[in-house]
Amino acid sequence: MYLVIGAGLAGLSAALTLQEAGHAVTVIDGADRAGGRISTDVIDGFILDRGFQLINLNYPEVKRLGLSTELDFRIAPRTVGVCSGNKRVVIGDPRQAPLSAFSSKIGTLREKLSFLKYLATKPAANEDVQNHLLRCGTGGLYDKVLKPFLQGVFLTDPSQVSAVVGRELIGSFISGKSGIPAKGVGVFSETLAKRVIDLRLNTQVEEVRGNRILTNQGEIVATKIILATDLTTAAQLLNADQVSPLIRSTTWYHVAVDAPSDSSELILDADHRGPVVNSLVISNLSKNYAPAGQNLISSTTVTHASESEVRRHLALMWGSSTENWRLIAKYEINSALPLFAPGKTKATSSKFSDVIYLAGDYLSAPSQNGALASGRLAALELMLDEGL
Ligand SMILES: Cc1cc2nc3c(=O)[nH]c(=O)nc-3n(C[C@H](O)[C@H](O)[C@H](O)COP(=O)(O)OP(=O)(O)OC[C@H]3O[C@@H](n4cnc5c(N)ncnc54)[C@H](O)[C@@H]3O)c2cc1C
Repeated sequence: MYLVIGAGLAGLSAALTLQEAGHAVTVIDGADRAGGRISTDVIDGFILDRGFQLINLNYPEVKRLGLSTELDFRIAPRTVGVCSGNKRVVIGDPRQAPLSAFSSKIGTLREKLSFLKYLATKPAANEDVQNHLLRCGTGGLYDKVLKPFLQGVFLTDPSQVSAVVGRELIGSFISGKSGIPAKGVGVFSETLAKRVIDLRLNTQVEEVRGNRILTNQGEIVATKIILATDLTTAAQLLNADQVSPLIRSTTWYHVAVDAPSDSSELILDADHRGPVVNSLVISNLSKNYAPAGQNLISSTTVTHASESEVRRHLALMWGSSTENWRLIAKYEINSALPLFAPGKTKATSSKFSDVIYLAGDYLSAPSQNGALASGRLAALELMLDEGL
């Protein structure tokens, strides 16, 4: 029996790869639902993703799964609003139109051309994202637009992230088609999970002893195991060292009767006046996110911040009072993303022992694509070893 532990994107991708090759596989997960970090709650008629994230339909692994028609997908605008002082300029999405649509107020023409140079330049092995972008001459454009935008992508300062991994992610945003399923990002993982024939939830693994798995539901004996939990759990279960630190982030959900904007653009603060890295009226992207007559605003912070600091910063960014906004939920995610520090590379093999293979974003890239790819590769390696 092949066993996959963890029904996040990595585990689901591993299971579907085995299943599609004609092999029976059981997936277990400790949680009451599949999806891991891609999950959604519905509270009082509001759709609350457990951490703001956009799904990129153009990721190669997402395309391979052919899910798009099942998601009732809402594509996010290809522009962002950049606030500076009491003005907000709408600029072409740096992911989509790095040259043509930038306002002259944000970065000089030379800096915009430098961003194109960046896209064509290979990063050095131990370089970080910030150094790579500045070395290419992005200067003020980096500080005002790219830095705040990328903080929301990496959930940390770009100077902490490997330029190699950063270049790959930035490239995928440029060619991307990002958005959300109309009823929350959880629909993405639920749709994938429905394809798995044998999925057992509420089954928490407590110990792994070779091919014997001790769970809260009893013992399972497997021929081969793909361990697709988050990094910390994998390290604990295998008595191994944790290979990379984890990044935390917080998503704040406020409700407003009057929306601060009609648009569903992400807004950024070029002046870095507070803890919020990005904010959007997510109910403008999908009306389902809030009951009629109400608006849901999703904002992300990556450093410790109080609600009053967040509210004050949001007032500056949106240029409107936030006094009557109501905080309805706050999701603090301690292990949001694995940090790919400069020099850290993708794992070349998923094999941990003769029985155990590893999968998870921490092995490949801190993204949906990274998680899905790691699961598929673990399953392929397992099948190769089995001569299947
Ligand atoms: C706030 C936030 C924003 C993000 N934004 C983006 C974005 O915009 N674009 C992008 O591409 N990526 C984004 N990501 C990253 C992406 O969501 C993750 O890389 C991906 O979901 C990780 O999948 P995974 O399968 O590797 O891990 P996980 O989703 O963590 O799955 C691990 C699974 O293992 C289970 N498990 C753990 N321990 C046990 C145990 N002992 N027994 C049984 N089961 C166990 C868990 O319940 C979970 O289901 C974001 C992530 C977060 C948190």
